[in-house]
Amino acid sequence: MKNYKNPDENGYYGEFGGAFVPEMLFPNVEELQNNYLNIIESSEFQEEFQDLLKNYVGRATPLYFAKNLSEKYETQIYLKREDLNHTGAHKINNALGQALLAKKLGKKRIIAETGAGQHGVATATACALLGLECIVYMGEIDIARQAPNVARMKMLGATVIPATSGSKTLKDAVNEALRDWINNSTTTHYIIGSVVGPHPFPDLVARFQSVISEEIKAQLKEKIGRENPDYLIACVGGGSNAAGTFYHFVNEENVKLIAAEAGGFGVDSGKSAATTFLGTLGVLHGSKSLVMQTEDGQVIEPHSISAGLDYPGIGPFHANLFKEKRAKFFSINDDEALKSALELTRLEGIIPALESAHALAILEKKAFGKDDVVVICLSGRGDKDMETYL
Ligand SMILES: *Cc1c(COP(=O)(O)O)cnc(C)c1O
Repeated sequence: MKNYKNPDENGYYGEFGGAFVPEMLFPNVEELQNNYLNIIESSEFQEEFQDLLKNYVGRATPLYFAKNLSEKYETQIYLKREDLNHTGAHKINNALGQALLAKKLGKKRIIAETGAGQHGVATATACALLGLECIVYMGEIDIARQAPNVARMKMLGATVIPATSGSKTLKDAVNEALRDWINNSTTTHYIIGSVVGPHPFPDLVARFQSVISEEIKAQLKEKIGRENPDYLIACVGGGSNAAGTFYHFVNEENVKLIAAEAGGFGVDSGKSAATTFLGTLGVLHGSKSLVMQTEDGQVIEPHSISAGLDYPGIGPFHANLFKEKRAKFFSINDDEALKSALELTRLEGIIPALESAHALAILEKKAFGKDDVVVICLSGRGDKDMETYL
């Protein structure tokens, strides 16, 4: 089996990845490329990080056998409960890891960008804990749409700066963050929130999220006597919860991988975020991957009911899994995700994030055998989505 887990020394997963940044950013990116592995693999870093994951984030998260859901779909369904993490999703695993890394690099100032505000909240949380200055760029429109998360970030001590150019959403916030990073390169680390961006970010984020699959292995061993499930299912926005869920299984042939993308109103509707169906090879936010774009390379505005999946690209790790057919990608529409969210709530008493509901909707799309062990990553909780659900 090929090695799907980590990129080559230039940051490529097959033909995807690399580092495409303006020359002014070379020093920042190179500093990270040269240092990230040494630092994060050191025992000093790992001791501190593992202690925080356990005592601050609340890990290990449970691997919960969902009996009622399993009965309905006549298979063996386990939910990896990332919704039970501090701040309500998997994003804190990466935000804490990168904030710690920034400290080791001697940085005192953190910048981040956020769309729905989940990554902004996780970053502001990590910065409050570790005593780092935190600036979050956010599109002006998103600031208005996501008021509760903006309030959280402010209470945590972050400065939220509106991006007022372009469509005033996530991609414009990314541009503002990059501009800031160019101007403040020696003092500042840019915490990217998914397995996207120039090398080494996709690998860095995947490693921090890989705690998810590390725990699944140990938990399955304890519960069913074997480490490997038959299927792993996760939703994909940029792809960080999916990369974390797949990481320690991706080179194991007998584990089948399923990714759920946001179909929006449907892949042919013109209002979708299903990048593997609609995307072509291009460069977005510093790496070569699949991108939703016009023939002349203009990024197409994506649509999903879930803000966390509303992204016109996909990380290079996943683009490679798609191209090599190592993972199977399904597109889940808004209405299908809503139906699955309500179903989980009523059958198991768990209100999932809208993003995670896309992973659950796979159960309606594909039949599994009655003895198949199916692990679904429940990436986050649904509190933030109550208005949409109602
Ligand atoms: C941000 C988010 C996602 C999507 O991001 P990935 O990087 O694809 O994991 C999924 N679920 C939740 C709960 C999120 O907050």
